[in-house]
Amino acid sequence: MSRPQPLIAGNWKMNRLPSEAVSWTRELLARLDRAPVEAGELALIVPYTHLPAMTSLAFGTQVALGAQDVSAHEEGAYTGEVSAAMLADLGTRYVVVGHSERRAYHGEDDALVNAKAARVMAHGMVPIVCVGEQRAERDAGRAEEVVLGQVERALQGLAPADPAALVVAYEPVWAIGTGLTATAADAAAMGAAIRRLLRRLLPTVADGVRLLYGGSMKPGNAAELLAQPDVNGGLIGGASLQLDDYLAIAAAA
Ligand code: PEP
Repeated sequence: MSRPQPLIAGNWKMNRLPSEAVSWTRELLARLDRAPVEAGELALIVPYTHLPAMTSLAFGTQVALGAQDVSAHEEGAYTGEVSAAMLADLGTRYVVVGHSERRAYHGEDDALVNAKAARVMAHGMVPIVCVGEQRAERDAGRAEEVVLGQVERALQGLAPADPAALVVAYEPVWAIGTGLTATAADAAAMGAAIRRLLRRLLPTVADGVRLLYGGSMKPGNAAELLAQPDVNGGLIGGASLQLDDYLAIAAAA
């Protein structure tokens, strides 16, 4: 089977004001008009407040919008939460679930990540399920065991009929926002291990599911990481806030 089309997803985290996001999106779309990027798909994973305006601006372009989290509940008395139905209604395509910052600062575990991913899929959006080991776990030779355990628990009971309905992002926690990057060989090995697990869990779609790498991806290391067979794109934090860097990474895919 041919490799899945790459997805270059920029995770803005809690950055920029909604008004700044509008001018940034206009500039991105103008740059793409002048110099289209061949990469399969671009996505911007932004704060909830930015989604309405950015979604309308990017409608019909190669840029999709994504949210950084979602409620595990369908609707009701959950003050402060945002539901999958609300995100879908805005035209949101992707929802990141289980980002390491949610796991670390909000105590999210694999069961919650699984419930959120199921909710996202039930509303026709695509979960980007984040997994990754801590530095101590890698140093102890346990990286693969930890990551595969997270994938298996996060995907429990999910049965996408289409490979495009699911994305898994391997993000070693020690590489996120630190300037440290996994070697291309380590990213490739983890991608291959996740793919083997997917073939067991989801045999009909496994080969087409996009596996992203995340963790200090930048223009200088993107081409080598994205050339690995089971690295089908990137989840990019810091570098996605700089338009030139984001477009350079997309051009490397
Ligand atoms: C991320 O936020 O998912 C991420 C990978 O961040 P950074 O690229 O800054 O390491």
